[in-house]
Amino acid sequence: MRFTKLRLTGFKSFVDPTDLVISDGLTGVVGPNGCGKSNLLEALRWVMGETRAKAMRGGGMEDVIFAGAATRPARNYAEVSLTIDNGDRLAPAGFNDSDQLDIVRRITRDVGSAYKVNAKDTRARDVQMLFADAATGAHSPALVRQGQISELINAKPKNRRKVLEDAAGIGGLYQRRHEAELK
Ligand code: ATP
Ligand code: MG
Repeated sequence: MRFTKLRLTGFKSFVDPTDLVISDGLTGVVGPNGCGKSNLLEALRWVMGETRAKAMRGGGMEDVIFAGAATRPARNYAEVSLTIDNGDRLAPAGFNDSDQLDIVRRITRDVGSAYKVNAKDTRARDVQMLFADAATGAHSPALVRQGQISELINAKPKNRRKVLEDAAGIGGLYQRRHEAELK
């Protein structure tokens, strides 16, 4: 599975539809302070199922919706879509019947979030599970926030262990065991 494109619409500072094409090799995003570099990484985390508004630097999840500017009115919804090349057919069962996956998350004011995978309504939990086994997803240690390194150095051992487990790709197993125990 390989990310190939991220599209943002009305998400934070990206009011008009904006595509970030992720080609083979290294993709760099450069720009002055406040131009939206961190917002791009947050969009990636968000479409994979982030539930913590704080991790998006907001007070509530609706804060990801474009809030308006001097010349542009605020929007009513924000949408992020992530395109994944699944040519290697390594996506988990249930998502593995096509070479390309389009994951879309949309949040509408006063309504909340809805997800689609290849245009089909999908539960948040299933989108999270899609990534949980691939050492990626909203909580992936591969996504490093500004300030996160110093947090890690100062973290309690238990929290540091969680980072290692997620990096090893066993986070999904814990989640499944937890759900099995609830049934
Ligand atoms: P730095 O180099 O300082 O880390 P950056 O390129 O990472 O900057 P971001 O933090 O991604 O910049 O972008 C911050 C900008 O996004 C600010 O101008 C902020 O006003 C804008 N922004 C954040 N949320 C929204 C929103 N809901 N609506 C409109 N603009 C927003
Ligand atoms: Mg930044």
